[in-house]
Amino acid sequence: MSLRLVIMGPQGSGKGTQASLLADRLGVPTISTGDLFRSHMSAGDDLGQLARGYTARGELVPDDVTNAMVRRRLDHPDVADGFILDGYPRNAAQVAELDRILADHGARLDAVIELTADRDELMARMTRRAELEGREDDTADAIARRLDIYAERTAPLTAAYADRGLLITVDGTGEIEEIAERVAVAVTGVRQ
Ligand code: AMP
Repeated sequence: MSLRLVIMGPQGSGKGTQASLLADRLGVPTISTGDLFRSHMSAGDDLGQLARGYTARGELVPDDVTNAMVRRRLDHPDVADGFILDGYPRNAAQVAELDRILADHGARLDAVIELTADRDELMARMTRRAELEGREDDTADAIARRLDIYAERTAPLTAAYADRGLLITVDGTGEIEEIAERVAVAVTGVRQ
């Protein structure tokens, strides 16, 4: 089954985990822009060095850099049968660029899954994750800042996707398996 999906939700909403579980289920790759930036940072290449300053402050990497990285990734043949984008698009310009990238491949998005959870639960989950993973960008300030950025810039995008009939909202609270089941059920309803 070939599906081109975006998974959205504030950091800490479990979208990374759910993206991987859904990707396994559908047999498509997950493309996480956060992971792509982190691997460039560990490689210490030019893109990684550029991204480091922004990610450390919990700010978005500039669109021209991010869009070019995503365009390159979506040129890869492994996405021919579908993919799940995690962490992209994050603003209106990225939404427009994603449409252009897909149109250039003669494709379009099939659905956008939004995971929802309240702010207190998100702060608690992200603080726990930061301790477990030792993520240098997960200071309390950076966490709060990223939730603010999400609310200001990204959440309105879900309204745009809803207007296009692409948005599926899924309750992101509860056990991982329980949420995965909700996501799977939601995706079953997506028309090919
Ligand atoms: P994440 O793992 O999704 O929280 O992403 C970690 C960091 O990578 C973010 O705080 C941003 O600095 C950067 N990043 C990830 N995705 C994007 C994006 N779509 N646009 C700009 N910056 C991004």
